[in-house]
Amino acid sequence: LARRWRDARPAVHGLHLDSAACSRQSFAAIDAASLHARREAEVGGYVAAQAAEPALAAGRAAVGALTGMTADDVVFTTGASHALDLLLSAWPDERRVIACVPGEFGPNLAVMAANGFEVVLLPVDSLGRVVVEDLAGQLVADAPSLVHLAVVPSHRGIVQPLRDIADTCHEYGVPLVLDAAQGLGHIDCAVAADGVYATSRKWLAGPRGVGVLAVRPDRAASLRPRLPPPHWVTDIPVLRRVELGEANIAARVGFSVAVAEYMAYGPASLRARLADAGRLTRTVLSDLPGWRVVEPGDSPTAITTLAPTRGADVEQVRTELIARHAIVTTVAGPDRAPFELATPVLRVSPQVDVTADELTTFARALSSLSPHTSPARRV
Ligand SMILES: *Cc1c(COP(=O)(O)O)cnc(C)c1O
Repeated sequence: LARRWRDARPAVHGLHLDSAACSRQSFAAIDAASLHARREAEVGGYVAAQAAEPALAAGRAAVGALTGMTADDVVFTTGASHALDLLLSAWPDERRVIACVPGEFGPNLAVMAANGFEVVLLPVDSLGRVVVEDLAGQLVADAPSLVHLAVVPSHRGIVQPLRDIADTCHEYGVPLVLDAAQGLGHIDCAVAADGVYATSRKWLAGPRGVGVLAVRPDRAASLRPRLPPPHWVTDIPVLRRVELGEANIAARVGFSVAVAEYMAYGPASLRARLADAGRLTRTVLSDLPGWRVVEPGDSPTAITTLAPTRGADVEQVRTELIARHAIVTTVAGPDRAPFELATPVLRVSPQVDVTADELTTFARALSSLSPHTSPARRV
């Protein structure tokens, strides 16, 4: 699996440990997008778009399968944040109260506020996972308009107990919307939520600038999209209306090919292998002087975060890892989870093809940069 994944894409420059920001695309996805742009030049952009419709329908169907919905329940967006904005701006309730975990993604909080939603916080454990036993009580005492949850957050490699949360929300009749930007292609997201949205470029390894929004039909029918005005589009299903604007069709075609490849590898195998990659990463990094692994070693994600214990400047470390070693990681700062994360962490997120040797190379590079390690280690 790892070999196939690696051989399917261009050779990497250095070390890519940044799939939670943007995975590396395959030749097939890159070629499909580029071929579509070529077709636009040959036959016309709108003619090419029509010809691409079966490919896009296959992309929607694959996303439907991964979210427990159907092709008709899925629309393309330009990304995850865009999907959330489309959904919340069309949300019908007058009473706009949204329940989130304290680790809610900062930019999502901005989208919620911009759409007039008041945020209430869900009960969580020390790692930020919902305490399901306490969730029911909260839903009974003060039901929000919806529960919103990142299935895997941006700033920590943990997984929310999705199935139990979905069951509880269902039992108490509270809609559940999942931010699967870090989840789709990474963990099982087909848990009968009312809405699921995600982004192309992370664990599905599609191009940038594409996202998806899946909404259950009954919920979709109740939405009131802000644009276009309803009387312009009376004959189009509600969800389809939000997809009407201008779009980079080539990128959507590339995404559809990436998801098709993903399905062909087998979602279960990829998920298992990503969990292995996370375990391996945490094992290799567990005793690194100056850094603490935040997640439990066996957390079933490929995201590992490192908190500096001896004052390393995480921003500078990331920059130097790129400049000196061509190793790509992410700084996750407090803006990612303003209610939960006080200081920045270094996020390491390999794909299925990572090797122990590569992680050891990374560990050595990181040690060589850490300011307070012993001189012998700085060579
Ligand atoms: C990346 C990310 C987003 C935003 O995705 P975009 O496609 O950049 O809009 C939202 N939520 C989480 C948890 C993310 O990691």
